[in-house]
This record gives sequence, C-alpha cells and structure tokens, in this order.
Amino acid sequence: MPPRNRKPTKKQKLSTKPEPRTNPEPRTNPEPSTKPEPSTKPKPITKPKPTTKPKPTKNWSIYPSLHNDVSNLLDEDNLFFSFYEKDDEYSCLDYYDTNIMGQFTCSNPACPAIWTSKQIAITIREYSDSRYNARVYYQSCKRCQTTSEPQLDHSYAERVAYRLKKWAGVQVERPPYSQQSNGPHRKDLCEGCKEGHCSNM
Ligand SMILES: [Zn+2]
Ligand SMILES: [Zn+2]
Repeated sequence: MPPRNRKPTKKQKLSTKPEPRTNPEPRTNPEPSTKPEPSTKPKPITKPKPTTKPKPTKNWSIYPSLHNDVSNLLDEDNLFFSFYEKDDEYSCLDYYDTNIMGQFTCSNPACPAIWTSKQIAITIREYSDSRYNARVYYQSCKRCQTTSEPQLDHSYAERVAYRLKKWAGVQVERPPYSQQSNGPHRKDLCEGCKEGHCSNM
C-alpha cells in the first residue's frame, strides 16, 4: 500500500485544532414548547363583556326571590320546602301546569305596550327531599311580537303554595281563580302554549 494513503489522515489529525465555539450558548432560553402559538383566531380585544342581551331569547324564568312568599304560606300548615334552582323536567317527582296573574311591560324599548294577564302559564315541579320550583312562561307583545317577562303578583305564591300543600296531602281551599279573563287566550303569544305547558291550551 502506498503511504500516501495514510498521509492525509495524518495531516488531518495534525491540523486538528480545538474547534472554536461557533455556536455560543444563546443568552436567553428559548420559550419552552409548552406554550404553543394560538393556532385559532386571536381573541378580539374590543369585545366587551356581554351585558345586555347576548343569550338566546328566554321564554321562561324561575323566581327564587319569591320563595319567601311561598314559604310563608307553607308555614301556615307547618310545611317546609326548599327552592330547587335547577329546573329539571326529568328528575321531578310531579308537576302541575296552571296559571297565575301578572303584568307585562314590553321588553322592546321602542314599544310602549303594557298588558296584564290572568293566564300566565306556570309549571310547578316537585323534587325529592322537599324541593320544588316553578317555571313561569313569558308572553309576546301583540303589537311587536317581542317576548317579554312578566312582573308577578301574589297569585304566584298562592298557586305554588296551594299545589305544594295538595301534594303534601294537606286539605286546602282552592285559591280564587278569576274566571273572567280579558279576552281569549292567545296561544300564538303564550310561551307556555308553545312549550306544551299551558293549562289554557
Ligand atoms: Zn311590544
Ligand atoms: Zn297558553
């Protein structure tokens, strides 16, 4: 074998110098990869907290604030129920559709309509452990069709307490139902009718 084969090898070896550090340590640590760039659309910073009406139009409400009125009526017969904040048609033990009275102010600010109703649909529900709630259905304005929430009167507590007493087996007098109504029940304006929970259907 000619020695020249070895030569370059030797030369290479000889010329080997310590490699200069061409790659200095980066001074700052790169971001660890645990924080990926948001791949989706960035959040618009101009979006304000929704305050007015972002939710889909409600067509009923429950009224925990009226529980005290109901409680006071139940007290007369030494009954105690607590208000169940979760309105659940599947876990309830019993339910009853009836009507209460109240007043509506059209929720459309541009519409001045105000009306009273003696046929506001309400579904009273009883749950285990002496709990109850009651869903009150909205009505739509006949002028502008805007769905509006009622302001309830004392008939709410009367009817709810009456039903809970009945379910508890208490002998009670039926609360006064005003039979004379103000006109025929407008199913097209009643959210209770639309949900199949109106006793006027
Ligand atoms: Zn209106
Ligand atoms: Zn109805």
